[in-house]
Amino acid sequence: VRQNENKCFIGSIDQGTTSTRFLIFDEHGIPHASHQIEFKQIYPHSGWVEHDPYELVSSTETCIEEATKAFLAAGHSVSDIKAIGITNQRETTIVWDSETGEALHPAVVWPDTRTKRLVRKLKARSGAPDLQPLCGLPLSTYPSSVKLLWLLENVPSVRKAYDACRLAFGTVDSWLLFRLNGGLERNIHVTDPTNASRTMFLNIHTLKYDDQLLKFFGLEKEKLRLPKVVPSSDATGFGSLTSGILKGVRITGCLGDQSSALVGQCAFSPGRAKNTYGTGCFLLYNTGTEPVISKYGLLTTVAYDFGKGHKPVYALEGSIAAAGSAVKFLQNNLRIIGSDKEVGELAETVEDSGGVVFVTAFSGLFAPYWIDDAKGTIFGLTQHTQLGHIARATLEATCFQTHAILSAMEKDSGHTLHELAVDGGMSNSDFFIQIQTQSNILGLPIDRPLMRETTALGTAIAAGFAIGIWSEFEGMKHIGQEGRTVFRPRIGGAEREKMVKRWERAVGMCKGWMD
Ligand code: ADP
Repeated sequence: VRQNENKCFIGSIDQGTTSTRFLIFDEHGIPHASHQIEFKQIYPHSGWVEHDPYELVSSTETCIEEATKAFLAAGHSVSDIKAIGITNQRETTIVWDSETGEALHPAVVWPDTRTKRLVRKLKARSGAPDLQPLCGLPLSTYPSSVKLLWLLENVPSVRKAYDACRLAFGTVDSWLLFRLNGGLERNIHVTDPTNASRTMFLNIHTLKYDDQLLKFFGLEKEKLRLPKVVPSSDATGFGSLTSGILKGVRITGCLGDQSSALVGQCAFSPGRAKNTYGTGCFLLYNTGTEPVISKYGLLTTVAYDFGKGHKPVYALEGSIAAAGSAVKFLQNNLRIIGSDKEVGELAETVEDSGGVVFVTAFSGLFAPYWIDDAKGTIFGLTQHTQLGHIARATLEATCFQTHAILSAMEKDSGHTLHELAVDGGMSNSDFFIQIQTQSNILGLPIDRPLMRETTALGTAIAAGFAIGIWSEFEGMKHIGQEGRTVFRPRIGGAEREKMVKRWERAVGMCKGWMD
């Protein structure tokens, strides 16, 4: 850490799938102020998920105002905040008119499966090339590319803007950066490699948009305004806030949320892995400076690119579409719990799941299965089944999918993981992480930090690195690392094997559901 005469804090915008936050960290990774707002989830049809792009911006601005007010009330001043980082839900697709700066459609959110038929059609194309070695992602409903194609095919104003060469495309980082920089006033249209690597337009080897990929999706570079790719940590490329309480503060970090959590866990060395249990669940395994293309159903993604002559770092990723969203489903749809934390309490009322398996495939199944047409299915109900069994099976679903991802990761990387760092909303539940589920089903020690806002911390680290608060990775390895808890498995291999087998059988039975 640099010897500095004045106080040094970094702000972090964390625009997630269910909520927006702003946190203010000191140079040891300790948060001093924060504000969080849950925003509206829009489900217009079965399988569709949308956000209001303007609510993403207004919730960000409100969080900045409120957290900063609390920061000032604690005796600090605005000038103590040296830079801001931004991290965001990935793949979610926003389009706007580059002449008016206005959004042309609600954001199509990453778990949205409206593109199911489109994906089937693309896959069936004769001579369709294997895109994964180029962009790291398999064709599925998940990446931005197919969401954009759907908008072009189904929303006349989007098609019209494209034909007139006025269609600006972006993931949430690009949209927020455009708006926070005053919209057309500065017309900043940028992204970072971690976000761009979720679109299917970026060549993950060169970190440049790839003509072959754009051609596959039938997109003309001249007509589509793609964001410029800037390293995740950059002193000038992301602009600064043009209004509000922190007007003038530079934005110097930008990372997709899962990459940011990997950085926030300080998993800078190859072989380190983290699993974030939020709305979905995402396991990232640092593979170093060479991308590893998966043969077993995982994705390859840019983990982070800190620029300044450092090579970009890659990760193998296992993505689970529904994790915390299944807890929300119990709360909001089935109404068997009143709050998130009650899921652990309810699950704890029973010894085991009583043979119940809940395949939480609300958005199909992602890694390592990639079954677009799977639907959520509960197996094994008997007269013995209680709500506790269903709650428990809901939590176990995330654990079984993590187990399947880890098996794939071991095969792809040739290494066995000895410990897994965790974070995200669901990791707040001790019951989930430890006692009967995650650690037991994985058969692995689980390492949980005390400060679990690792997603927000990651981009604060990227932002701080850009302006020289830290100048090398060695010095960053200890940021926010105090007070970790390790949970160890408590069941034997035979019991685990039986549970995993039952899960895999259930997965096999829930595909091909008719719409
Ligand atoms: P995101 O960034 O995707 O919005 P978060 O990391 O904020 O997600 O996590 C929110 C998710 O975690 C919600 O789906 C919520 O249901 C779940 N969650 C939060 N606290 C708990 C808890 N104590 N037990 C189980 N699930 C929880």
